[in-house]
Amino acid sequence: AKNDGRSTYRFYQEQMNIDAVEQHQMLSGLAKALERQEFVLQFQPQIDLSSRMVIGAEALIRWQHPERGLIAPESFIALAEDSGHIVPIGEWVLLEACKQAAAWRKAGFPKLVIAVNLSAVQFKRGNLEMSVTRALTESGLDPDDLELELTESILIQNTEQVLATVRKLKTIGVRLSIDDFGTGYSSLAYLSRFSVDKLKIDRSFVQNMVDDAGSAAIVRAIIQMAKSLNLKTIAEGVEDENTLARLRLYHCDAVQGYYYGRPMTATEFSTYLSENQVA
Ligand code: C2E
Ligand code: CA
Ligand code: CA
Ligand code: CA
Repeated sequence: AKNDGRSTYRFYQEQMNIDAVEQHQMLSGLAKALERQEFVLQFQPQIDLSSRMVIGAEALIRWQHPERGLIAPESFIALAEDSGHIVPIGEWVLLEACKQAAAWRKAGFPKLVIAVNLSAVQFKRGNLEMSVTRALTESGLDPDDLELELTESILIQNTEQVLATVRKLKTIGVRLSIDDFGTGYSSLAYLSRFSVDKLKIDRSFVQNMVDDAGSAAIVRAIIQMAKSLNLKTIAEGVEDENTLARLRLYHCDAVQGYYYGRPMTATEFSTYLSENQVA
């Protein structure tokens, strides 16, 4: 038993060293990834429940690592936030997403709103209004075709500064939605204060709503509240027909999830659009 304790300790120490080395490698890779053009965007369709048309797409970043292959955002976004790299990376995402949406528009597809995720760090350290303006100008995209996804955590911190930035963004004319709604410090006060357009109901409630009455009640309450505040609703993480039927019953406006389509490359998304709606 005495030895066990020691080897456990040694194991943790070695583990920590490996992690430190890995972190260091990830970080130096992250610093070069932009100029090496290793980031790619994938797009996931958003479907309107009454017209059953594709009304938008969420842009989701991936890191095409030369040795490790495709890395999911969950493995590098936090590191990019802590190191500040998220600011230039976020600017790249904005421009790339806007360019792609403008290209689909030019190709003759019906109106499509492109949704882009923002990090709290972009509000704190970046000049967000300028990045958004630049992305719109360079791409030629209509501001009304760009939707920025904010998390509740962005809205509750640094209120005055965030409020000022959000006001400027609204002046530019972009749309705002609240991502992962229901999981944060849900204060209803900020919904009217920040004049957002849409609530994105978190996957954790959506995925449990068929089996769990509590989750269903939450989803239903969010949709009803959104309606009385004149906000649109979209449910994320819709994977099956039963969930879809339930959301329809509750008059949710739109859905996003594996049931209608996984995140895909821009080329795959063009094919998806041609097959799923008339250009
Ligand atoms: P999110 O914004 O909540 O994005 C939705 C995540 O759910 C995506 O994971 C998507 O692939 C996944 N998803 C969509 N439909 C389903 C479904 O039916 N079932 C299940 N199980 N999952 C589904 P992904 O692409 O790995 O992104 C993870 C998170 O990384 C995002 O969560 C977002 O917080 C962050 N992220 C992604 N791209 C960016 C970006 O460009 N900038 C920033 N700051 N964060 C990003
Ligand atoms: Ca999102
Ligand atoms: Ca989400
Ligand atoms: Ca999430």
